[in-house]
Amino acid sequence: MAQDTYWASFEEISKYNVSLNYAERLWLAWYTYMQNDVLATGILSFTMHEAVYFGRSLPWIIIDAIPWFRRYKIQQNKVPTAYEQWQCAFLVLLSHFTVELPQIWLFHPMCQFFGLSTTVPFPSIYKMAFQIAVFFVMEDTWHYWTHRAMHWGPLYKNIHKIHHQYSAPFGLAAEYASPIEVMVLGLGTVGSPILWCAITKDLHILTMYLWIVLRLFQAIDAHSGYEFPWSLHHFLPFWAGAEHHDVHHERFIGNYSSSFRWWDYFLDTEAGPEAAKRRREKKMAKAKKAQ
Ligand SMILES: [Zn+2]
Ligand SMILES: [Zn+2]
Repeated sequence: MAQDTYWASFEEISKYNVSLNYAERLWLAWYTYMQNDVLATGILSFTMHEAVYFGRSLPWIIIDAIPWFRRYKIQQNKVPTAYEQWQCAFLVLLSHFTVELPQIWLFHPMCQFFGLSTTVPFPSIYKMAFQIAVFFVMEDTWHYWTHRAMHWGPLYKNIHKIHHQYSAPFGLAAEYASPIEVMVLGLGTVGSPILWCAITKDLHILTMYLWIVLRLFQAIDAHSGYEFPWSLHHFLPFWAGAEHHDVHHERFIGNYSSSFRWWDYFLDTEAGPEAAKRRREKKMAKAKKAQ
């Protein structure tokens, strides 16, 4: 049923698959038109990553250029220069094309190996939301421990130091890191759904894509350097957000999780002056009890 152009494929598919919704027809037309699943998944994944990464970073670049927004900047005196942003974007792009692109061709075979579905119809929105929530919790746990390990002397000096070049982060700096770090931390993002699928045998590749898009949003926003009265953690107190990760870049220690605050809270690794004060008070209370 493959046609010469994508839209011809789409029309052909629409004729015979009336039960499918618009998005499902777009999806099926892509795989039919490509006639090569590895290429279809690879191109889709890479394009999606680039579009989301730079698309989501763009509003933050614009916000950095507008002085009015300075009132919401966490480290107000450290606004990135245009040159810093260009340099960062260039290095991130270089890493995407040299490190990520060659690996992305393994993505479809890996999905097939673990039994991810690429067919239509798509799973229900409720199922996708539930699975994505589970991935957020899994990835956050992986991120907490591996990121904390990265702050151990030798690993920090040889790998993680690159990511800490910016003590006041900005959106584009989310993936500014050593390729080794990208692979180790990225394993939490890609490995969580893969592990889920290996156990439950129930995952659609679209759910994986949506999860990766949301995780990218989370990472870029956490690096944005802006804290608003309407930031998510004001409504969901366990959500980490920019306020949480900005302090990590400023102080180089504490706040190791990605999406949630619970690991740092329960293991007493929260960063910043308020957390230090809480720790001091706890110590003093303990000392008093011991007397
Ligand atoms: Zn770090
Ligand atoms: Zn960071």
